[in-house]
Amino acid sequence: MSTANGQDLDALYQEIILDHYKNPHGKGLRGDADAAGTAEVHHVNPTCGDEVTLRVHLADGVVDDVSYDAVGCSISQASASVLHDLVVGKGVDEAMAIHQEFLTLMQGKGAIEPDEEVLEDGIAFAGVARFPARVKCALLSWMAWKDATARVTGAATGEGDKA
Ligand code: ZN
Repeated sequence: MSTANGQDLDALYQEIILDHYKNPHGKGLRGDADAAGTAEVHHVNPTCGDEVTLRVHLADGVVDDVSYDAVGCSISQASASVLHDLVVGKGVDEAMAIHQEFLTLMQGKGAIEPDEEVLEDGIAFAGVARFPARVKCALLSWMAWKDATARVTGAATGEGDKA
């Protein structure tokens, strides 16, 4: 895709985000929060009012499921849907690498060309990266996922904010 077509690209990105917002993938909490290999976290983005309750289930080193309830703006909710698509079924290490790729994109202030091979629909958030106030919206569920996953694997940092 050419940057000369910036407006077309922005329109395409907005369409992808709106599509995930209207038809979220994997939404709703599933399984048992107290089951083995499961952790649930609640994260809030106070600057926008977005909230997510996210539950991760790992089995044999694989992300078996990511289920969530999210309220808030279209960016935060679409991002949770894309997260679900990208990490469910992946090995934990691979999912963490995808997480890092998304984080790098979002922290790139719009200067980073997203890798569609890795991020699939996640590339749509490249436009959001230009707006610092919205970056937290896009990262909310991703940070919740990392936190929940760390709780299961025992790599928790202790800085969680479980509600
Ligand atoms: Zn938001």
